[in-house]
Amino acid sequence: MVVMDNSELFPTETLTNLRRNLRRWYGKQGRELPWRAAGDPYRVWISEIMLQQTTVTAVIPYYERFLTRFPDVHSLAEADEQEVLRQWEGLGYYSRARNIHKTARIISAEQDGTFPWSVEELMSLPGIGRYTAGAIASFAFDAPAPIVEANTLRLYCRLLGYDGDPRSTQGQRLLWDFAERLVPRGRPGDFNQALMDLGATVCTPTEPACPTCPVRSCCQAYSQGRQHEIPRLTKRVAMTEVTEASIAIHKRGMYLLRQRGDNERWAGMWDFPRFEIDDDLSPKTLKRLIDDVHGLTGIWFRDPHPVKTIKHTVTRYLITLRCLVADFDSGRLHKNGRPLKWVRPNEFNDYALSVTGRKFAKSLVD
Ligand code: SF4
Repeated sequence: MVVMDNSELFPTETLTNLRRNLRRWYGKQGRELPWRAAGDPYRVWISEIMLQQTTVTAVIPYYERFLTRFPDVHSLAEADEQEVLRQWEGLGYYSRARNIHKTARIISAEQDGTFPWSVEELMSLPGIGRYTAGAIASFAFDAPAPIVEANTLRLYCRLLGYDGDPRSTQGQRLLWDFAERLVPRGRPGDFNQALMDLGATVCTPTEPACPTCPVRSCCQAYSQGRQHEIPRLTKRVAMTEVTEASIAIHKRGMYLLRQRGDNERWAGMWDFPRFEIDDDLSPKTLKRLIDDVHGLTGIWFRDPHPVKTIKHTVTRYLITLRCLVADFDSGRLHKNGRPLKWVRPNEFNDYALSVTGRKFAKSLVD
């Protein structure tokens, strides 16, 4: 089924009913979240960036810790990037933290700490897309800006009975047009939050609570009994299995850390030297690792022995990480290239590490 115009499926009268029912429901059932009360654009911005790819429950402790360390845009702008990455550690997708830092510097230095309120100006800042701009504009400034994120995308598809691909260009246009029609002039911030809450708590992905849903009388999917078929699921990306080796090279009570490059995964984070390997730790693989580490750092190591295996997932990769400890043998650290440092275990906490790097580091301290 191809839907081009949401006004055919959603007449103005239905829209009015939906707004009224949703507001009533939100007054009683809306979620209390730590970034909502103040209507502060800085808090809204940080929380929305953190919430990309992550759940509310997982974000709350990170958000509170981040806000304690960086209570406003100026304190964030003045911080060192490493410290921002350290506070972000564990949330993943570290380019978000680097963009937050860049944007804080722009707002602090060029706009005297004042956030723009228009969607267009917000979208010109690093790391702020259309959804985040709409969230800041509506939640913090009560501007009637539309929003489409994971929860509202699902909700809109069902309300419209849209069974096309919601991620396609056509699907995106339809949903954004609908969101624009939907958002009212009066208290648009509350209204957008109500839509998100309804999607998160009632119109859930697998078990939508239709019989008690406040907007069921306006819902095409429910009236057609197709709420479990909509939205159409996109095919899952096939996972690729990869094996990597990470080597903690030991020298007089210290271990070698390297800061990862801009074109690498986890850019800007520190890590033990790490390489993809073809197979298990055969003598041939170990010989190649010794050469690779020398090429990367300038030093040779000896007596490598595996101490731990960590399984983890990064985007579409299932990674088996073989962690080895080895002794420094000879050589000098490269002066050019990515920064390299000998670090004592009790100083590991001063460095922003990848999640697996942190797990490996902890095992060296314990
Ligand atoms: S009636 Fe069901 S499918 Fe429709 S919006 Fe409500 S929970 Fe979602």
